[in-house]
Amino acid sequence: MISLKDIEVKCKDCGRAFVIRRSEQEYYRQRKFPLPTHCPLCRKKRKKLRDKEQQIQSDRLWKERKKADAITFDQELHGIHRDPIWHP
Ligand SMILES: [Zn+2]
Repeated sequence: MISLKDIEVKCKDCGRAFVIRRSEQEYYRQRKFPLPTHCPLCRKKRKKLRDKEQQIQSDRLWKERKKADAITFDQELHGIHRDPIWHP
């Protein structure tokens, strides 16, 4: 049994030292997660950035889908226009 202590880690982003408490270490160990290398502030910032990127990504996907729908609609419209029923 390893006795855990509060450990101080230097943030990889801002270089600030932060403490990972015993309970946190336990949490990470139990879930087999690596210990954090970034301070809570930078982690929050990175998460925000990631969320924003995901938002941009989903926006782009939505726009592309809309564009594809518009093309399909256009094709259907032209198909109808070419239909002799509509142009007797
Ligand atoms: Zn940091």
